[in-house]
Amino acid sequence: MELARKFSETKPSGMVRVFQAIEKMQGVLNLSIGEPDFVTEPDIIEAGAKGARDGFTHYPPLQGYMDVREAACAYWERHHGFKSSPDNVYISVGGLHIPWLAFGALLNPGDEVLLIEPYFTCYDAQIRGNGGVPVYIHTREENNFAPTIDELRAAATPRTRGIILNYPGNPSGRVASLKQLEEIAAFVEERDLFVLSDEIYESMVFNGSHVCFANIPGMKERTLLAAGVSKSHCMTGWRIGYLFAPQNVINTMCVLSSFQTYGVNTLSQKAAAYALNTQDEKVKARAKIFGERMKAVEARLNAMKGVKCHTAEGAFYLFPDISGTGLTSEEFVWQLLNSAKVAVLPGSAFGQTGEGYIRIACTQSMDTLMKSMDKMEEFCRSIL
Ligand code: PMP
Repeated sequence: MELARKFSETKPSGMVRVFQAIEKMQGVLNLSIGEPDFVTEPDIIEAGAKGARDGFTHYPPLQGYMDVREAACAYWERHHGFKSSPDNVYISVGGLHIPWLAFGALLNPGDEVLLIEPYFTCYDAQIRGNGGVPVYIHTREENNFAPTIDELRAAATPRTRGIILNYPGNPSGRVASLKQLEEIAAFVEERDLFVLSDEIYESMVFNGSHVCFANIPGMKERTLLAAGVSKSHCMTGWRIGYLFAPQNVINTMCVLSSFQTYGVNTLSQKAAAYALNTQDEKVKARAKIFGERMKAVEARLNAMKGVKCHTAEGAFYLFPDISGTGLTSEEFVWQLLNSAKVAVLPGSAFGQTGEGYIRIACTQSMDTLMKSMDKMEEFCRSIL
């Protein structure tokens, strides 16, 4: 069957190519996938099942059930001091559907959105798919992969409408400092922009506490604060994300979803409401485990020839610089996969800034992580 012309040039990303290769291989130590290895807690599963027994089996309200919107507000107030109202919350099909609907609501054809490299790959396609133009901002590791005000000003044009922030960041695991975020906020005000702040890794910050961008004075009205339960509550398969945003944006997103998904799976919403209200200790305990794994893997990486790994402040990714091996990101990843059966992702899949880096997801047991590091160490020794 003939496909639409827009797909003729669409090739699988560096990330998807690795995922597809692993599917055909046996015995791979897989550090490529960004999802917690822990399964959803049994009481959360029970809350979803109870939702079905209680009769929540009909079409949901477009914006999401009130209880889960209230739970999202309470969670953010409790953890991050961010105050909102359930009227300003939209429940989405995973965190992933938020930018799609938000850009659909906000972008006119040709509007530019600033995309800070290295970035979560999907944003690029989501901006383009909604008629926008991504404008890439190259960043540096020594600056936490956060842009300086000069880098922002150099990238902005009269067509710039918004900027995407993602701290703690995928793929870098890095967190912008409060000072850097305040500088970005001043720029946002100066250029009258909207901000999509993807804070889905808010529960995994290892040094200090998470800074919620919308808490910076003047930013709440301009910010679409995106998060979800996939990472914090180990609920990737339940597909629940949520957004805090101004009312007119939420209303338009509801209209858009009315002909895309017509709301979100009802049982998942009931499970997420329960999860957001009851799991604080478990969320904290898992963050501690991720932090310990990251520390141990970082130490192993820094002992390898040709590899340098900066401490990640959050999320569950390490983003080591492998340029000292003389290989490109892609060469490193494919040679490592084929010779040692360890799967990681090429940094170049996340924009040009990522060239010379690889992404390692610490979403496996300590034992698997250490075995993978043994193999990677041997691989680095063999090529240098
Ligand atoms: N934002 C970021 C930065 C992510 O890394 C991910 C998942 N990898 C998502 C959003 C989407 O998460 P989900 O759709 O599983 O909730």
